[in-house]
Amino acid sequence: MTNRIEVVQGDITKQQVEAIVNAANNSLLGGGGVDGAIHRVAGPELLKECRKLKGCPTGEAKITRGYRLPAKWVIQTVGPIWRGGNYKEDEYLAKCYQSCFALLEKHLLKTVAFPSISTGAYRFPLERATKIAVTETINFLKRNNFVKKIIFVCFNNRVYDYYVSELKKYSISI
Ligand code: ADP
Repeated sequence: MTNRIEVVQGDITKQQVEAIVNAANNSLLGGGGVDGAIHRVAGPELLKECRKLKGCPTGEAKITRGYRLPAKWVIQTVGPIWRGGNYKEDEYLAKCYQSCFALLEKHLLKTVAFPSISTGAYRFPLERATKIAVTETINFLKRNNFVKKIIFVCFNNRVYDYYVSELKKYSISI
């Protein structure tokens, strides 16, 4: 378990993994933050493929190719917008991770990188989101022996520190 989780500080578009996860919006037609960065690097073919998907409901995920990214695949998921905590935000965020893991299983992908879904423009509290990301990941790895590496890519120090301290609670040191 321990050696299958990694935390790095950096840019998800540079990760050498089979699939990266995009924190997209319901339209899947591109946005700011990590979504903008992924589309910029992947190139216009990604938007073309996304148009055919006709959007994605919150908590679900759809897979596309990675085009000019080092990653062959992009798992597009849509996190919840934080509205104070009483609108099933926790459930929807957990469902994002579960939906991404289901696609890894379906496509037999062994390495994946996640951004901190919903914690940018969607303003989900970082500590709470990190707990959900880590819990869902550990639950998945407990029952799946095929996936080799799950990388949490943290865009800044603050995100990185939350992941490291959350993983410490499970005796996972980075
Ligand atoms: P959301 O709309 O789901 O909140 P954002 O893209 O606004 O999505 O933010 C999600 C997280 O992704 C934030 O922690 C943000 O700092 C981070 N982020 C932004 N750009 C990148 C990138 N290139 N690589 C990794 N993480 C990124």
